[in-house]
Amino acid sequence: MRKIVFASSNEHKVAEVRTILGDQFEVLSLKDINCLEDVPETQETIEGNAIQKAKYVTANYGMDCFADDTGLEIEALDGRPGIYSARYGGPERSAAKNMNKVLSELNGLNNRNARFKTVIAFSFQGTIKTFSGITKGAILLAPVGNGGFGYDPIFQPEGHVQSFGVLDETIKNSISSRARAVEQFVNYLKALPV
Ligand code: IMP
Repeated sequence: MRKIVFASSNEHKVAEVRTILGDQFEVLSLKDINCLEDVPETQETIEGNAIQKAKYVTANYGMDCFADDTGLEIEALDGRPGIYSARYGGPERSAAKNMNKVLSELNGLNNRNARFKTVIAFSFQGTIKTFSGITKGAILLAPVGNGGFGYDPIFQPEGHVQSFGVLDETIKNSISSRARAVEQFVNYLKALPV
């Protein structure tokens, strides 16, 4: 079976991709390859960070690897928090602080348009290929619901009347930017010659 590394320290994400790929690929986590250091992500774009992480593992561990990076891009904030999404409200990476900062910056503004963007970069046999997924929506005036994580309680996806903090997980997982990027990536992998 072909082995590929998922450059993520989030075991939940790794397990999810393992399930989708079934027995076609063996998906290894960073822990599985004994990569215990922080994988650098110091680029200025979501795409750049995904590429940097995937390339790092190939360069240092000699394995094919994919990595993902997600950000919330808000139109009225010139695309912020973007690459700063995880630590927008401070280095402690608190979802509540991140949401509060976004809400206070949008205070009084009518344009609430936003989108989640996920990029998956695949470093494979010496080349890099990227796959992206976008979910458009709007930032609410206050958090609603406790479901999901990150900015979910203040994000209402287009075509729905509830936030990701309220919507059922199966709905979120069918329209999230990450689900969309993963779907493209998996279709690509499944079409590769054996
Ligand atoms: P990561 O690249 O998947 O680690 O995501 C970076 C940050 O974006 C997270 O720490 C969250 O703040 C935010 N984020 C990513 N995906 C989601 C999501 O599905 N819902 C809400 N926030 C998210």
